[in-house]
Amino acid sequence: MSAGVHGGRAKCLQRLIRLEMPVPVTVALSFDAVHNVGCGRMPDMAEILGHFGPMPLLSVRPSSQDPDWGGPGAILNIGMSDLCHADLCERIGEGPATALYLRFVQSYAVHVARLDPDAFDLPDTADATELKAALRAALEAYEAETDEPFPQDVSVQLSEVLRSMARAWTGTTARLLREAKGAPADAGLGLVVQAMALGVGPGDCGSGVIQYVNALTGQPQVTGRYLSQSQGRDALTAGERAMYLKRDPRGPSLEESCPEAWADLIRFGEMSRRRLREEMQIEFTLHEGKLSILDAVCVQRSSRATVRIAVALAEDGIIPREEALMRVAPSALSELLHRQVDPGAPRDRLVKGIAASPGAATGRIVLTAEAAQSSAARGEACILVRRETTPEDIRGMHAAEGVVTMRGGITSHAAVIGRGLGLPCVVGANDLVIDRKRKQIKIPGGRTLAEGDVITVDGSSGDVLAGEPAMLEAALDVGFQTLLGWADEFRDIGVRANADTPADARSARTFAAEGIGLCRTEHMFFEGDRIGLMREMIFADSAKERRTVLDRLMPMQRGDFTALFEIMAGKPVCIRLFDPPLHEFLPHDKAGMRDLAEGLALPLSDVTARVEALAEYNPMLGLRGVRLGITVPEIYEMQARAIFQAAVAVSRRGDPVVPEIMIPLVSAMREVELVKVRVDAVAAAVRGETGVDFEYRLGVMVETPRAALRAEDIAQHASFLSFGTNDLTQMTYGLSRDDAGRFMSAYVQQGVYPEDPFHTLDVEGVGELLKMGAQRGRAGRPDVTLSICGEHGGSRAAIEFCREQGFDYVSCSPFRVPAARLSAAQLAI
Ligand code: PEP
Ligand code: MG
Repeated sequence: MSAGVHGGRAKCLQRLIRLEMPVPVTVALSFDAVHNVGCGRMPDMAEILGHFGPMPLLSVRPSSQDPDWGGPGAILNIGMSDLCHADLCERIGEGPATALYLRFVQSYAVHVARLDPDAFDLPDTADATELKAALRAALEAYEAETDEPFPQDVSVQLSEVLRSMARAWTGTTARLLREAKGAPADAGLGLVVQAMALGVGPGDCGSGVIQYVNALTGQPQVTGRYLSQSQGRDALTAGERAMYLKRDPRGPSLEESCPEAWADLIRFGEMSRRRLREEMQIEFTLHEGKLSILDAVCVQRSSRATVRIAVALAEDGIIPREEALMRVAPSALSELLHRQVDPGAPRDRLVKGIAASPGAATGRIVLTAEAAQSSAARGEACILVRRETTPEDIRGMHAAEGVVTMRGGITSHAAVIGRGLGLPCVVGANDLVIDRKRKQIKIPGGRTLAEGDVITVDGSSGDVLAGEPAMLEAALDVGFQTLLGWADEFRDIGVRANADTPADARSARTFAAEGIGLCRTEHMFFEGDRIGLMREMIFADSAKERRTVLDRLMPMQRGDFTALFEIMAGKPVCIRLFDPPLHEFLPHDKAGMRDLAEGLALPLSDVTARVEALAEYNPMLGLRGVRLGITVPEIYEMQARAIFQAAVAVSRRGDPVVPEIMIPLVSAMREVELVKVRVDAVAAAVRGETGVDFEYRLGVMVETPRAALRAEDIAQHASFLSFGTNDLTQMTYGLSRDDAGRFMSAYVQQGVYPEDPFHTLDVEGVGELLKMGAQRGRAGRPDVTLSICGEHGGSRAAIEFCREQGFDYVSCSPFRVPAARLSAAQLAI
């Protein structure tokens, strides 16, 4: 019997039978048999019934391939009839027998004959006379509605039950629901016909469920419910009437009242864990003290429990480590790194945007970076809500617990910084309107929230919620670390982190990144009063003047790099030279320009003139990256000097540091040649000044299509090529990474793009450039190091692609490193 022919439940029951657990007689109908039933071709009922004794009472349960795909509800007590009722009255008493018959009539009428449930209410009484009256009324109602007496023949009842369940499976709602859970369009349904273990009658009778781990933590713990005189899963809905399983001072327990059955249940739990190699929830019935095992399903579990259970099974030698690794979805690890909204908590959703950085955070609404900083200074958690963020908001982002933007996509500024900081972030919440004058935000449906109101950002789902729902804490426990340690043993591609600050670098170390694959240095210029110096540099009239200002910035950059080298302790650190257009460092409004004019002691008109002169129609394709490096060479020279001096200083104290310097936005070999000559000259100067010989590696960021096409000659001057798939995607599609969010969902919904290409690597298009760039790069320099450092780097699809192309490593935000390590291992297994 296999899950692909008879369904998971049937397969599991067969294994329980093989383990000699007391499973009542069971007959499994295959997907084909049930399909035939749906088409009116019934199986041989006499043959099925022949497996059971005379006057059988039966249950039918669904058995789909994956239990998550659902199926029609179970029907119990099939076979109940006047005759059977009379027999049961003698065996278990009139009241309980009548209650069973009534219950069957009700479920048959509603679920099989599809009659109005209101006509078949179950009375809340145990009184035999009242139950009898209710049964009579139900039988009459059935006859009145169908013009036929309630069927008395078990074979008729069973075939009707099978037919109704087979049809329910093919209904549109059921199909859509399971397809949403990943079921194929032709997913089959099996059915399991089983002899009832009554659970009702004299002596110890009842039913319950038991499991052996805590579903939230995955720690060993026996939990469950038992309800005497009950059937099916009644115990789960019985509230206070249910009995404790284990001995408990608060009330009677199954362990005390039925110690033998209890001992068997504990034994079966251990047996199913070892032999089914899973943590199971077991459904059982006691009838006159005799235990029956009716069903077993895998315990539903949180992400944290998933990791703990997989690791424990492998540590106990029940499954191999490879299998433990395969059992955990990489996304589950990402969840564990952050606080999450409790999945069971009610959600008051205000708006939905793009889930840009996972985790959830609660705080008061602030609408400016300054307000975020004051809020943090007061010790008040805040959520920064902006139209979009710019580098100027960085300090506000540091101060906030979470960020929401109206604009932007998965690679917008807010999203990239949010992921880097591990800050929950929702971007592209288009339906949000910010009224800065009134300090309010408006959402569809006429709701308005003011600055100071509490909201929650759920960066895992993209929801912005009102108030503070219940949360689950992050869980970086031993199981998590153990699993990732195993992942590192199996994976065959490196994983580095994109880290710009010492805090990022520490996160990178915590998550065991093998180095820094991308340090975006420009972010450092927004720290403290460096922005003032940056602006002075931009306003300098000559190279000499610029150098003077840069000389003051240099020690600060040296400090930044020293910290990074120290934290990374000999692991490689790849520093990207300055990339953005200079205008990003200038104020955008009149007030800011006035401040700047005052600060620089210049007439306002000079400042506005310079700001206007630097404005570009298309700054992302303008004077940035290596183009700035060539036209304003002093900036790169200062950075190279800071890098080399830091490397010398740190090498003197410990292992030699071999810095990696990366040139952004290259499109021509000559650009690399020119920068290389200057950087080599700085290296020679620093060697001379310090008397220390050191090595460094110069590489190129491949993020323009032309760089990929010309990778062969570019690689002559580059010891590594790192594919910046954010810009490469932008330029390959001609699609603005900052604006595409506005129409991306319409594009994806209409199937123009299968996914947002800034989120999921476009293997067909951008991937071709990566492939070509890698091949040509290797042709130019066979030992060239190849990597990817765009936001795609952490995704499974990109890792798969990079492995296939023989890349050396992927680099992604520190908080994505664990999932990347696991994905890489799963791909290698
Ligand atoms: C890229 O373009 O892929 C990249 C990593 O650089 P940035 O996101 O800083 O442009
Ligand atoms: Mg880029």
